[in-house]
Amino acid sequence: SSSPDWEKIRADFPILQLDIDGKPLVYLDNAASSQMPQQVIDRLVRYQTTQHANINRAVHYLSEVATLEYHNARCKLQQFINAREDREVIFTSGTTDSINLVMHGYGRKFIKAGDEIILTTLEHHSNIVPWQMLANEKGVTIRVVPINDKGEVEIDEYEKLFNERTKFVGLIHVSNALGTINPIKGMIDFAHRHGVPVLIDGAQAAPHITIDVQALDCDFYVFSAHKLCGPTGVGILYGKAALLEAMQPFKGGGDMITSVTFEKTIYNTIPHKFEAGTPPIAAAIGFGAAVDYLTAIGIEHIAAYELGLLEYATACLNDIPGVRIIGTAAEKTAVISFAIDGIHPHDIGTILNQDGIAVRTGHHCAQPVMQRFNVPATSRASFAFYNKKTEVDALVAGIKTVQKIFL
Ligand code: PMP
Repeated sequence: SSSPDWEKIRADFPILQLDIDGKPLVYLDNAASSQMPQQVIDRLVRYQTTQHANINRAVHYLSEVATLEYHNARCKLQQFINAREDREVIFTSGTTDSINLVMHGYGRKFIKAGDEIILTTLEHHSNIVPWQMLANEKGVTIRVVPINDKGEVEIDEYEKLFNERTKFVGLIHVSNALGTINPIKGMIDFAHRHGVPVLIDGAQAAPHITIDVQALDCDFYVFSAHKLCGPTGVGILYGKAALLEAMQPFKGGGDMITSVTFEKTIYNTIPHKFEAGTPPIAAAIGFGAAVDYLTAIGIEHIAAYELGLLEYATACLNDIPGVRIIGTAAEKTAVISFAIDGIHPHDIGTILNQDGIAVRTGHHCAQPVMQRFNVPATSRASFAFYNKKTEVDALVAGIKTVQKIFL
């Protein structure tokens, strides 16, 4: 299909028209949260204006509409990741919540003292800390896959970590700190040859790479709406039905039961077993609209356009003396972490902000990555399909201003 009209697409995002202190906003913090197009905003308004009620409970009109629209959103997510069944998609409050659900629901039931869990150095804290909690509670060991100087996972080392005690693998699909795309298909296959289930943290992949959970054959796949042009407060856990059925619930409460007496509670079927209480109905419906929006553009088109931005930005930054890109993997999404000799990342972010440029500075919730590269923090520019080359130029000019001020 023909290439999208990127200028027209950019115009869908009202927030991109903002001026920050008289300077046009240059939003390069998309790995933290991407912005919302008018189509998704309109969907949220329509829900709140004409469809809002609690779901699953009443026979009245609005409750039936809201229940149906919430279900439709689940089906849109099912299609987006090509899950076999809609009940394999659990709405959560986000990636962090999804991983905690797997830790409590799967980990606490099936992983025991002496067992081992494999994670990579690239993991976000949200795919480290829950497993550490489990490790401390149960006496489980966490084994960590090292990364090379480019920020790529060392596959030989990964394979060497497997033994008969290995019971679980958690892999980040795309590094939020560096942009590295991990070769997860081969890593999943390898784990499965050892009978070990794999969770993929897809928070940074789902916005940029077509996800097919059946082709990947991953056991769990998780991501958040707010990085996919959707609202905050919602995400999904995809899990294979048989695994989800075998797991214990994470949260107890309404809707996750079929019957309750003080003697005994019978849990509901999936997905309801994992959706205790009133779910984020509005946000889930907005999430559905967001994946519709992205699907209409085409994730492949998005990926190709963003790769162009990445190549341009990489070349521009490499041309500035004193700027060092951290994370130079062969396979990357449009994320550039960088350091400027002699200038603290916090100062970089502050000065860029004065020019209306939004980048992230800090450890990006990936302190082991920072430790690996021996830096306390980096500055990170992360691009979306609505960014343009002139915004890369603005970043370059901003970096030169920073150097003029501090050097
Ligand atoms: N994993 C990765 C790779 C991420 O980039 C993020 C968000 N920075 C998370 C997990 C956590 O997502 P959330 O804050 O939406 O739970």
